[in-house]
Amino acid sequence: MKSFTKSFTQQEAIPESAIEAAVEVMRSGRLHRYNSAAGERSETDLLEMEFAEYMGVPYALACSSGGYALHVALCAVGVQSGDKVLCNAFTLAPVPGAIHNSGAVPVLVDVDENYCIDLDDLYAKAAQSGAGYLMLSHMRGHIADMDRVMAICAEFAIVLIEDCAHTMGAFWDGKRSGTFGQVACFSTQTYKHLNSGEGGFLISSDAQLMARAIMYSGSYMLYANHCAAPDPQVFADICLQTPNYSGRMDNLRAAILRPQLAQLDSQCQRWNDRYALMERVLQPCQAIRLTQRPAKEQYVASTLQFSLPEFCSDKIIELVAQCAARGVVLKWFGAATPDGYTSRYDSWCYIKDMPSLPVTEQRLSKLLDMRIPLTFTEEDCQLIAEIIYEVVNELTDYR
Ligand SMILES: *Cc1c(COP(=O)(O)O)cnc(C)c1O
Repeated sequence: MKSFTKSFTQQEAIPESAIEAAVEVMRSGRLHRYNSAAGERSETDLLEMEFAEYMGVPYALACSSGGYALHVALCAVGVQSGDKVLCNAFTLAPVPGAIHNSGAVPVLVDVDENYCIDLDDLYAKAAQSGAGYLMLSHMRGHIADMDRVMAICAEFAIVLIEDCAHTMGAFWDGKRSGTFGQVACFSTQTYKHLNSGEGGFLISSDAQLMARAIMYSGSYMLYANHCAAPDPQVFADICLQTPNYSGRMDNLRAAILRPQLAQLDSQCQRWNDRYALMERVLQPCQAIRLTQRPAKEQYVASTLQFSLPEFCSDKIIELVAQCAARGVVLKWFGAATPDGYTSRYDSWCYIKDMPSLPVTEQRLSKLLDMRIPLTFTEEDCQLIAEIIYEVVNELTDYR
């Protein structure tokens, strides 16, 4: 019987050039982003310039985590306590957490059969809630029809905040994911597309918004040091009006991110090669429903999702157990209690008056998920997909 032995949580080593840059920063002792020698640009400033350039936007801010960036983004667009913010019911816990942190109230929108936000439900809830904001997670790298998202935002004058934790490097119709909204956030946490342990970015093309975000991040009035930032005079009116929510990135993490950013596109290709291979192996399996991905979606598949529409929960539990016994770790979003990152909307009990979302629950109850760390070779991915195929087949009853 085939089995797999590698770890599903083991990422690649940090590139040697990044390690050298980190050692250099440590030798200098100047780890704080504003602690630079005369005439020196800090690693954090350089990283922000390079990320802004990569994204094709004027402004970028590096900060302490993706979830922090989401919180600051909400504050920077002007969300006030009690405001309603539309967001995906299928997302990771930092998203409702950031909304809660800003005092706002999440309005959860159903997931569709391809794990994107359900646009009919979004339309209905935008109309009915009067929410002025949408925090859109491109969850697990699945990008909703952005043409329709933008039309809905325009119709209801909704400010769009993109959560691009899983779409760094991806596009919709040739336009980078993260350049549709007024502001977008990214994570550089270990399991995302760049790895600094913890970290995140916030990007925008709006000078006022970015000035506020930089003040929130804790710039100690040193905003003029930022390269990927608006002119210092933009800060004049707001610098005393904006609290310091201290959440900066430091030079050590920036130093290890810069060489990784230079390799991001080739890493994305490696993920997609692995995904395509697994898709090919799983495709013929009748019981498995793979994600339908529109031609306009140029995704980065650093994780794999599939559904088993005909499987009841007991059978899915059995499948997860049999795969695990053969070394393949699948996560199930249908479990009653969260397991690692699989928290579901009904486990965010701090949200008051949580509606029940039967459509989302039904879809998530069939959804399996796995990460594709780049320490897996293409042969590894072939083997994993074959194991999944075999286990699903054994558990399928063909009548
Ligand atoms: C990882 C993640 C974030 C942010 O995560 P941090 O751990 O705070 O960097 C936000 N949204 C989604 C969907 C994520 O997966």
